[in-house]
Amino acid sequence: MASLHTFIQDYEWHLARLEELRALLEERRAAARTELERAARPGAHDRLAAQLAAIESAIERIDRGLYGACRRCGTFIPLTVLFQAPHEQRCPDCARLTAKEMAA
Ligand SMILES: [Zn+2]
Repeated sequence: MASLHTFIQDYEWHLARLEELRALLEERRAAARTELERAARPGAHDRLAAQLAAIESAIERIDRGLYGACRRCGTFIPLTVLFQAPHEQRCPDCARLTAKEMAA
């Protein structure tokens, strides 16, 4: 059986990852804001605005303690996915399903 000490270490490990992801999101938010100010074409502007909204929504979910759980099914999104795309709010299964629904 895992000891309380192990649980605390595990918790602290996850908290540290969460802080790394928050820093990553804040970096990307700053970059997206700068790009958005410079975007001249309307198409590029819309894409960047959507990207910025996704990043801000992810940061808000960190603040509310919901970050990392899939918005659709509640499963935890793998850390490898989050470090690649920290704004992602769906697990890989749901992301695939949504892509299929959109294609249908
Ligand atoms: Zn899901």
